[in-house]
Amino acid sequence: MRKAIIAGNWKMNKTMAETKETISALAPLVKDADCDVVLCVPFTDIQAAKKAARGTNIKIGAQNVHWAEKGAFTGEISADMLKELKVDYVIIGHSERRQYFGETDETVNKRTQAALNARIKPIVCVGETESEREDGLTEKVLERQIVEGLKGFKSKDFDKIVIAYEPVWAIGTGKTATAQDANETIGYIRKVLAKKFHKTIGEKARIQYGGSMNVKNCKELMAQEHIDGGLIGGASLKADDFAYIVNYNK
Ligand code: PEP
Repeated sequence: MRKAIIAGNWKMNKTMAETKETISALAPLVKDADCDVVLCVPFTDIQAAKKAARGTNIKIGAQNVHWAEKGAFTGEISADMLKELKVDYVIIGHSERRQYFGETDETVNKRTQAALNARIKPIVCVGETESEREDGLTEKVLERQIVEGLKGFKSKDFDKIVIAYEPVWAIGTGKTATAQDANETIGYIRKVLAKKFHKTIGEKARIQYGGSMNVKNCKELMAQEHIDGGLIGGASLKADDFAYIVNYNK
């Protein structure tokens, strides 16, 4: 029922020339994908990425968006600016933004609203840190991030909102949650959505797993009942590896 979505997060990697090269190599490898294929690229690569992806099934996303329409916010980018570039998705509340740039559940909420207003699909990231996990706080943290970060959104908004469950200790570390653990935790997120929002949302929300997902573990992760895709950092930088993950069911 839920269509899988495999999204790459290039973070602060790739020049425009590298963007063109990677997307040209990737496009023929993913053309028969059954899932949505997305690349979230640096702001400076968006135009090159859109051009390289023209006529393919690859959608382009950004990695952040500000909530204000315009104004004195040096270094920020508005949803209308992204809309003008015809961006389809935007990552919001990635753990690196929460950790290094003061992102909070409140700012996640505002950015998500701004993206939806501009008809850009938000990929909202949630996840516990290693110490929160060790202290047995995983469920509490996730519930807070979901309830506060997505406060006020209605059932129809969840046709557009994608949630990425990314345990912070698994991002860029080579450590992956076991497929069973990831599935169980995402199942818990579905319960929170059903209880705090509406029961249909628990079933219909698309929820990705992210955290060192790669060619070796993607099939097992993607076979889990509650996992609808992946948000992929390191392994999205190489066309071959990313294509393998996108074609997880072939
Ligand atoms: C990410 O950046 O969202 C991510 C999951 O990174 P990696 O796949 O490298 O762990």
